[in-house]
Amino acid sequence: MIDIQRKDLLQEGAFIGGQFVAASSQKQFPVYNPYSSAQIASVADCGATEAKSAIDLAYTAFQTWKSYTGTERGRILRKWYDLQRAHEKDLAKILTMEQGKPFREALGEIRYGASFVEWFAEEARRTYGDVIPGHQRDKRIIVLKQPVGVVAAITPWNFPSAMITRKVAPALAAGCTVVIKPSELTPLSALALGVLATEAGLPPGVLNILPTNNAPEIGNVMTSSKLVKKLSFTGSTAVGKLLLKQAADSVKKVSMELGGNAPFIVFNDADLEKAVTGAVASKYTNAGQTCVCSNRLFVQEGIYEAFIEKFTSAVREQTLGDGMTKGVVIGPMIEEKAVASVEALVSDALEKGARITCGGQRHGAPQSLLYEPTVLADASTDMAVFRKEIFGPVAPVFKFDTEEEVIAMANDTEYGLASYFYGKDHSRIWRVAEALEYGMVGINSPSVSTTVAPFGGVKESGMGREGSKYGIEEYLVIKQLMWAVQ
Ligand code: ADP
Repeated sequence: MIDIQRKDLLQEGAFIGGQFVAASSQKQFPVYNPYSSAQIASVADCGATEAKSAIDLAYTAFQTWKSYTGTERGRILRKWYDLQRAHEKDLAKILTMEQGKPFREALGEIRYGASFVEWFAEEARRTYGDVIPGHQRDKRIIVLKQPVGVVAAITPWNFPSAMITRKVAPALAAGCTVVIKPSELTPLSALALGVLATEAGLPPGVLNILPTNNAPEIGNVMTSSKLVKKLSFTGSTAVGKLLLKQAADSVKKVSMELGGNAPFIVFNDADLEKAVTGAVASKYTNAGQTCVCSNRLFVQEGIYEAFIEKFTSAVREQTLGDGMTKGVVIGPMIEEKAVASVEALVSDALEKGARITCGGQRHGAPQSLLYEPTVLADASTDMAVFRKEIFGPVAPVFKFDTEEEVIAMANDTEYGLASYFYGKDHSRIWRVAEALEYGMVGINSPSVSTTVAPFGGVKESGMGREGSKYGIEEYLVIKQLMWAVQ
């Protein structure tokens, strides 16, 4: 069992209409600790019945919630934020137990996740509209922003808490109500947020959380429901495309945060130490399982060997193990399928001439989900790691000669989420930043994620932005009032 102070944060029922309830079928599904493979919970396995009822309740709750003032909604959100911070250690433990990431990192996620709630508590009263000078003498034009309606959200396992608050906080701030389906691998962090939402005073039905082992069944209800006006999804590009097609029938507003294939470019004039530290942070966070993790490292010829040497020794210092053990910085991967996929990518790269300078295999017992942090030198564009999202602790390092060449390689992908580059030449910084076809560019910075900046992609990495002043717009619709003065 999980050793937490607030035992009631560990819930196994679905959170519908403000109550934790069993599935009507009485079915449950197991949740495992990916480090020990021990079962840690058995959670309600919701289906279409629960999805329909949660949507109905959210629709009813919307009629009242939308009439609250921004200040009133903001106060409840602020309380929710305070509670998340007050119980951050418990929330982080639950997160580590079900997801595997080291406790320090889990705590970082809880704080990051809570920061969206704090931010949108403030933004709730700033959904300003406009007054437009009339186009005719008798006309006055007013623009209102109103909540879009019931929101359906589907979230992944790699950030089981923050991906929820990043969607729910702006939606609630805007005046929407939400039905959320967390990943089947990590439903516990989501349910814990439900406990604290009730404690913060969120009215029943405003937020509903449906754990399920049958994502397509709930996805179908969400996308086909006429009551749901907005779909917000974070996950793989393949599932995102499917949901987009499904949502097309009822023409829903959509936000999609999909896969990435981030380039991490190091120019000859870069500060080598900083580039190495940045590459380690950007590649191995969450055992390489984030959509903004650098996927392809491109290093200019002049410093290629020096980079490989320093990077390899920094990567060797990364300690693997149980996320609850002090000093561990890389936890297990999420499931066997994920390790198998990384193994296949590494052997493909080796067959095509890559050179392993560290790592390259599973760590510990044969069934362990720990995969050693790996560096693949001499990577080339014919390798699968060039095209595919690795989603694991493996860093292929490509050599390049000119700026033009590296921009072409960096953009040679259907993805366009995060990108990074290191260098000092000011005119080149501006040129490269403009040339990269990505929604986010880290310049001498390995991180692009913060509440106050817009997060999101272009191309097949999706549409819409989360966080920042732009994030709330995803949950608002514009209405114009054309007023003829009598
Ligand atoms: P990942 O590779 O990160 O697991 P997925 O896209 O498979 O990405 O999963 C992200 C979320 O999408 C999870 O909550 C998962 O349950 C959900 N999901 C997967 N397939 C479907 C589907 N057909 N309909 C609705 N949700 C789905």
